[in-house]
Amino acid sequence: MLTLNALVHAPAHLLLSLLSGPHHHRCSSTSTDHAGRSSPMAASARIAVVGDVHDDWDLEEDTKALQVLQPDLVLFTGRCLPPYSVLFVVFSLAFVCDFGNENVELVQSVASLKFPKAVILGNHDAWKSQHFSSKKKKNGVQLQLESLGEDHVAFKRLDFPALKLSVVGGRPFSCGGEHLFRKNLLSARYGVHNMDESANRIYNAAVGSPEEHLVIFLAHNGPKGLGSNLNDICGKDWVPGGGDHGDPDLEKAICLFKERTKIQTPLVVFGHMHKELAHGNGLRKMIVVGADKTIYLNAAIVPRVQRLNPKQGASNRSFVNEETSFVPESGGTTRAFTLVQVLDSRVHRITETWVSVVGDEATLQEEQILFDRDQSCFNR
Ligand SMILES: [Zn+2]
Repeated sequence: MLTLNALVHAPAHLLLSLLSGPHHHRCSSTSTDHAGRSSPMAASARIAVVGDVHDDWDLEEDTKALQVLQPDLVLFTGRCLPPYSVLFVVFSLAFVCDFGNENVELVQSVASLKFPKAVILGNHDAWKSQHFSSKKKKNGVQLQLESLGEDHVAFKRLDFPALKLSVVGGRPFSCGGEHLFRKNLLSARYGVHNMDESANRIYNAAVGSPEEHLVIFLAHNGPKGLGSNLNDICGKDWVPGGGDHGDPDLEKAICLFKERTKIQTPLVVFGHMHKELAHGNGLRKMIVVGADKTIYLNAAIVPRVQRLNPKQGASNRSFVNEETSFVPESGGTTRAFTLVQVLDSRVHRITETWVSVVGDEATLQEEQILFDRDQSCFNR
């Protein structure tokens, strides 16, 4: 079986590349011109990814922002506390993410969003509950699962025929690395007892995808095999030597799916490992493009909401384009989304997008290009 490491760490001329940060980097790939042409049989969609929510979700405010972006589909990677902060929880409460520590009310609010969506719960969405409880007294995990219903894609697939897309969910509650997190919950709810069974569940969910669809994998943590430096897309940033903290079951499922089917897998979306590295070590690579052109996208921009400061007349973010710099009169927020544009069955463009929301007014504030097929280049 091929591994993601083999696919990603291919000869340099085959490796398309990676990113994060403000400088452009030209890659060696050639791109096909698809400008403006779209076959009715081809997948085409705008996808807004909400990375680890970290309690930064407000249905009303985020709905206003999403109305600006007009996505066909919204993907949620769950909420999480980064692994290193489990060790230093006393000192790092400000880094709490996923949706919230079994924040049922917040997940119910996500479930109420009036956009097509797919959601995967993270490790902190099962932070307190290790077992399911009686029918009379349900715990936070049960209440979250009930509120999300079919939109929670753990070990299953959601088809979006109008978009020619299928979203396949990975293992819920993942904390990354070699061990299953919340074994009792996984066993009771999904009949999954180990990594191999988990990989098979993910793979089996994917194989039924309609042949004309693109398959997008959605997981809380990314797959193993994408690098072991501390700033790699799933790299351990809380220990000096780094290490690969990717999920082995997700890696196996994706590799099997690629080997055994001809269905295109252009995108794998996940979160959990924050863009900002621990101990002030800079920024994480948030995108990797494999030699087979699958794009691995980490959407964990944390915090994803910045408060605008009315007293200073400017936000606490520095915007790239000063001409569009927003001067709020009554505070407000800027809210992060990772926007993926699919055109002609290919990922065309990916941007880290910030939308300001002040009162009833929502405005596209900043776009940082992470991937642009036309320019064959990546922002890094
Ligand atoms: Zn997490």
